[in-house]
Amino acid sequence: MVKKKITPIEQAAKIKAELDVLKEKAKILNAKPPKPKKTTKKAEEKPPKPRKLTKKELEEIKREEEKTLEEELEEQLTVNEIENFQIEKVDMERLTARVCDILAEKESDGMFQSELWKKLKLSSRDGSRLALKLERMGTITREKILEKGRWTYKLILKKTPISTQSIENAPCLVCPVEQRCSLEGEISPRSCQLIEDWVIAEMKKPLKIK
Ligand code: SF4
Repeated sequence: MVKKKITPIEQAAKIKAELDVLKEKAKILNAKPPKPKKTTKKAEEKPPKPRKLTKKELEEIKREEEKTLEEELEEQLTVNEIENFQIEKVDMERLTARVCDILAEKESDGMFQSELWKKLKLSSRDGSRLALKLERMGTITREKILEKGRWTYKLILKKTPISTQSIENAPCLVCPVEQRCSLEGEISPRSCQLIEDWVIAEMKKPLKIK
């Protein structure tokens, strides 16, 4: 097949067409990107900063973080519920005497309550309620202490409660004039030789610690 000869006019037209295409392409490439939309002042506003807590609020948060089970119980229970606390099937008088015996050994150093509850096989909740009761009775004092990152209490014996054992040999129990004996009366423990002898004898006895 014989190739058709392109005339100069046709060649010029072809070149022009190609130039037009190139110009179009250059236009597209040089075109400026669209300007980003102006944001309104409102949209630019920063998110509100969290409110700075007051000293009182910070103290309240700290207090809540450091709150012990006993402090929570004190808030939840009435004075009556604390003072009349009983553990089911447990002789509370004997339990109290046992607590006093153990704490008496520790003297003014006291003992961590968790150790004491472990020794007495008491749950933390029962132990904590017992500690509150004994404190109300004036038997122990509680010292809040930070131990291994946790707030707890050291229990210190304040006074030993009178047990029935401590008066079992008291002369008053078999005294023939007991009915007529009173503090301000003619027959009185203030002048009773029997009671004086008994008190001296009891004081000489060694302290019984189980
Ligand atoms: S104090 Fe003396 S007199 Fe009075 S009841 Fe006791 S033993 Fe008897």
